Amino acid sequence: MVFPITRFGVNRYSVKMAILATVDDSVRAGLGWKEQMKRAIRDPHELMKRMGLPAPSTAQIQACRQFGLFVTEAFLSRMEPGNAADPLLRQILPVCEENLDIQGFSTDPLGEEAATTENGLLQKYQGRVLLIANSVCAVNCRYCFRRHFPYEQTPHSQTQWSRALKAIENDQSIHEVIFSGGDPLTLSDERLDWLVRQVDAMPHISRIRFHTRLPIVIPDRINQLFVSVVNDLKSKAIVVIHSNHANEWDKSVEHAIGRLRQAGCQLLNQSVLLRGINDDMKSMIDLSQRLIDCDVLPYYLHQLDPVQGAAHFKVEEEVGISLIRQMRAVLPGYAVPRFVKEEPGQPNKTVIA
Ligand SMILES: *Cc1c(COP(=O)(O)O)cnc(C)c1O
Ligand code: SF4
Repeated sequence: MVFPITRFGVNRYSVKMAILATVDDSVRAGLGWKEQMKRAIRDPHELMKRMGLPAPSTAQIQACRQFGLFVTEAFLSRMEPGNAADPLLRQILPVCEENLDIQGFSTDPLGEEAATTENGLLQKYQGRVLLIANSVCAVNCRYCFRRHFPYEQTPHSQTQWSRALKAIENDQSIHEVIFSGGDPLTLSDERLDWLVRQVDAMPHISRIRFHTRLPIVIPDRINQLFVSVVNDLKSKAIVVIHSNHANEWDKSVEHAIGRLRQAGCQLLNQSVLLRGINDDMKSMIDLSQRLIDCDVLPYYLHQLDPVQGAAHFKVEEEVGISLIRQMRAVLPGYAVPRFVKEEPGQPNKTVIA
């Protein structure tokens, strides 16, 4: 283990490990989440073959060089073979349009490089701070606004984290810490347990939030160990998942969400409005219904951030506004997300509808 031991001690942790490892049904059921990460598909030829689609073009392969392909078996299993327009496939499939340089689409659309401190903290809004816990995701979403983020500069060692933790500890105005990334749940159980406990031990922190796509792309990641980490918190735990389409949901996802719910987490979802994926009424309504049925509140629908390589996903704001209006007419108020965009320099996300 990389970490020297801190005030919580490794013994307490290894004892918990030993007890829980014997009852963790995700381990019993099949491959553990780390193994699923290792076996994720990274080769576009393999992806196309598995999907029963023609071999990738040179332009598609070129797009992978800039931002690699990464998709788990669990996510792949919910796609329809032979369907090049599958809404899940389109989220992860590199396409030639990514190589275009479109005006207004930049490598750092949110000005995050300027807002990120050397220790991986990103504070744009009052009272809450975002901690780039690590750079790894368990899926590479082609529209990701962090596809060009200089992750090499974010902290990976405990010494660097210590600096971020000190900064949070010294700032009494912070009441909520958001673990983001990358995806914080790709950290090992040991690291995540350590990091979360450090934050939870600070008296001025009352909420801990996780921004994660793992419950969708590797539902087995929501193992007993993670549930017990969340259970032990003094802070309120909030998990913001990221799902864009109802087809992303199957029994394994529902099961993972059920575990989080049982652990007492407040569950929210954020989506990105994506052309050809969820920019129609049926997709939006189906997703909201699915979320609500699983006790997940639709929180944000994001207008696409103008990141280079993602211009082909753009949906005009008016279309988004109209979708939200139509949703309001047929769904209960709590099932309609807020349609927002991020504008550099603003004190909060801008609500469009
Ligand atoms: C979106 C975001 C948050 C969280 O904002 P909420 O409106 O509280 O969900 C916090 N920090 C940064 C940098 C963000 O981009
Ligand atoms: S999971 Fe989130 S951070 Fe990771 S690639 Fe997808 S959108 Fe980006």
